[in-house]
Parts: sequence; C-alpha cells; structure tokens
Amino acid sequence: MPIAGVTWTGLNDDIEALDRELEEFNKKTGYDIPIHVDAASGGFILPFVSPDTRWDFRLRNVISISTSGHKFGLVYPGLGWVIWRDKSYLPEEMSFSVNYLGAEVTQVGLNFSRPAAQVLGQYYNFIRLGREGYTRVQQNSMEIARYCHQRIGAMECFENYSEEVVNPLFVWSLSEEYQKKAKWTLYDLQALLQQSGWMVPAYSLPKNIEDIVVMRIVVRQGMSRDMADMLLKDIENSVAELDKLKYPTSSRQAYDKQEKLLGKVYTH
Ligand SMILES: *Cc1c(COP(=O)(O)O)cnc(C)c1O
Repeated sequence: MPIAGVTWTGLNDDIEALDRELEEFNKKTGYDIPIHVDAASGGFILPFVSPDTRWDFRLRNVISISTSGHKFGLVYPGLGWVIWRDKSYLPEEMSFSVNYLGAEVTQVGLNFSRPAAQVLGQYYNFIRLGREGYTRVQQNSMEIARYCHQRIGAMECFENYSEEVVNPLFVWSLSEEYQKKAKWTLYDLQALLQQSGWMVPAYSLPKNIEDIVVMRIVVRQGMSRDMADMLLKDIENSVAELDKLKYPTSSRQAYDKQEKLLGKVYTH
C-alpha cells in the first residue's frame, strides 16, 4: 500500500518501482499480490501537475485507489473516494443490494444514512472547474509551495527535508548549526506563529527517525502569493524574536535533556 503524498513529508512513494518489483515477486512465487494506492493528497495533484507520472491504473498491479475529496479535491470535510480498477476487484462482502422504497439499489457503504452535501460539492467543482480549472488551481498551489520552499531553504536557521516539491506541501527542520546552538525549537516557532493566526505544525517524524523534528506548510487553493509573503514575514519576525532569547525555552531544555541522555551535550 504505497502512498502518493506521504503525510509526514509530502513526498511520493515510487509506485512504479514497487509495481515492477511486485511483478517479479508475483512471477517468482506464484502469488497474486495487488497494490492499493493511498493517494489521499496525491490523487488530486498528480493528474494535474504531473500527468505522465505512472502511479495509477496504468500500472498492472494497481487495483484500487483512495483519495480525499476534502483535501486537494477542494471540497469541505468529510469526503473520501475509493475506486476499483474493475468491478471484479470489489470485494463482494463490501457491496450489498437492498430493495428500498421500490427500487433495487446496489451500494458500497460503511453506514446507511449520510448527507450527500459533500458529494454534491465535489460534483459541482468538477463541473465548474473541469480538468483545466483543477490544473490551474493545483499548479498555482505548487508554485506558491515551491516559492515558500525556496525562501525557507534560504534562511540560515532552516534546512529543507527534501530538494524537490512534488505536492503543494513540504517540511523542513532546523539547520545543523541551529540544532546545536539555538535556544528554541520548532515547537516554540509553532506557538509564536499561532499568535498571528497561522497553523504551521511542528512534529517529530515516525519511528526510527523520530529524533528529527520538522515543520510543515500545506498550500491549498486560496493561498495567494501575498499571503505566502505575509507568512514568510511572520516566520522571519518570529525567528528574530526567538534568536534574542538569553536562556533556552522549556521545549529546548527538554530537547537538551533528551540529547544528554543520548550522550550529546550542548552548552548555552
Ligand atoms: C489524510 C490522509 C489519510 C486520511 O484520509 P481522509 O480522507 O482524511 O480520511 C490517509 N492517508 C494519507 C496519506 C493522508 O494524507
């Protein structure tokens, strides 16, 4: 189950490579292992910004794809989609027919009565924007994300996690120098930015790289270049404030304590 638009990093798994390896593995073993693509974010990005990337049903072993309508599908929450390559791949126990109020209805549902407002919202956007509209919206988000990525990467205190931006989101961490000498952490920066109304989360990466703390920006429709400049200015101002600190913040003290346990000692 590869991911297009990994939650923690914004990057894409190499689904084409996985498909190739799986093809070999299935041939060798006689197994018939298929691929489900978790394209919660990427499903509404790749077709518009990178139509030649093969991650979908163009790959033989991909039999189902899920994507979130309420992320880059541009609809309000909560709407998710799942599609199967062919009806034969849809597990029978997931679909059921009911004779309901005079018609035989076959449906795949996790529960019965739900509002259809989100589905209508998606339908409206599809009709209203079309492929061309979605392409323009997503390419614009990519452009703003790449702009922020470049500006963040140019700041002395930061280091981008990856050189490339493949979805309109990216993460970065403190530069090596700041990791050693700063009296603050990205958690402090998150708290300061929150005071200006920005929700820019700081969090640690998953198991085996959990000592890496990153911060993430997600750019969606409506985030203009002007807004990006306002955010970047607030980040610069917050960093300038934090750099003035004489004593480490409590989150930095906690970090030092943890590092000390690991045998690394920094002095302030
Ligand atoms: C958001 C997300 C999910 C959850 O999808 P929802 O539609 O929000 O329930 C699953 N996987 C990834 C990679 C995601 O980014």
